Amino acid sequence: MRRLAAALLAFVLPCQAASIAIDVGHHLQNPGAISARGVTEFEYNRQLARDIARALERAGHRTLLIGEDGLAGDPGSRAPRARGMDLFISVHHDSVQPRYLATWNYGGRTLRYSDRFAGFSLFISRDNPHLEASLRCASMIGAALARAGFTASRYHAERIPGENRPFADEANGVHYFDNLAVLRTAGIPALLFEAGVIVNRGEELRMRDPAVRERIAAAVTAGVGVCL
Ligand SMILES: [Zn+2]
Repeated sequence: MRRLAAALLAFVLPCQAASIAIDVGHHLQNPGAISARGVTEFEYNRQLARDIARALERAGHRTLLIGEDGLAGDPGSRAPRARGMDLFISVHHDSVQPRYLATWNYGGRTLRYSDRFAGFSLFISRDNPHLEASLRCASMIGAALARAGFTASRYHAERIPGENRPFADEANGVHYFDNLAVLRTAGIPALLFEAGVIVNRGEELRMRDPAVRERIAAAVTAGVGVCL
């Protein structure tokens, strides 16, 4: 009888519970990009990473937030902390190459922005030992984001110095970025997620909207639910 109940439960549950490491991109000393309104990328990354972790936990997964205190300096030391887990997701927000940036005044400060690019990007490394699972998860998350109304930026495939990242899955916005330390050093499937372009003035406002972040977190959770 107990076995029957377990079988029924497995049938009813939408997916297997998994353990997911959520890495907060950058840290306080080197906080990454500066948004069009002068906020650090680290602050955006931490907020969204927390939202994603919460959504995953609501769906029954176990999570580990890495770098939440802003003190983890060395990116290569982060992924190994996720050893034994099922997936490593590094959460980031995007900028663009300096040549596209113009200046404007906001809050009494002169800041840099570019409204030319918007959208999410996903990255995996061919130097990660679990390339297939990394790609599957990145693709499923990209597909879920598209279903939720978000668009891939495609910016990183541009043939300009500093970009030119080949597509691993063009339809779902996934690129190869082989030598990213945080992906290479993960002994588990790993991907890096650029949620949106915060030097874009309109996109930065969207990224500040809790309802938008909730939709992003739900899409990541949906993707994870089908890829592992
Ligand atoms: Zn970043």
